[in-house]
Amino acid sequence: MTAIPVDAHANYGPMRMLLYRVAPGLTVASSLFDDDTNGMYDRDDDTILIDRRMTYTRKRCTLVHELVHRMYGDDDHTREHRCRMTAARELINPAEYALAERMYEGDKWLMADELNVTPEIIDDYREWLHDSR
Ligand SMILES: [Zn+2]
Repeated sequence: MTAIPVDAHANYGPMRMLLYRVAPGLTVASSLFDDDTNGMYDRDDDTILIDRRMTYTRKRCTLVHELVHRMYGDDDHTREHRCRMTAARELINPAEYALAERMYEGDKWLMADELNVTPEIIDDYREWLHDSR
């Protein structure tokens, strides 16, 4: 499943650099949101905004989340559940997930750290695994 125009396993900086090349029409910019919003996608302007106060891991996960909305043609956070399930599958390599699960005995926070994702992404991936069985 390759859906978004960059490798979702790249770090935040390299991913943004790559987007300049592979998605020249897309604007990715830093922002400061008043609420707990991490990011958003504006379909009309083909623009992704990422909150600048977050860790690079959270920025990375947020950028992939917004790229999935863009891929589906969603405006802002419409079809949120579909986006979350897809983003988790983009961000997590199944073999690395299985290894981390054994190594950390399923501890969500340690696994998230190992896999360079947020704990919420681990939750989403588990939900997808559960629903796909
Ligand atoms: Zn969303």
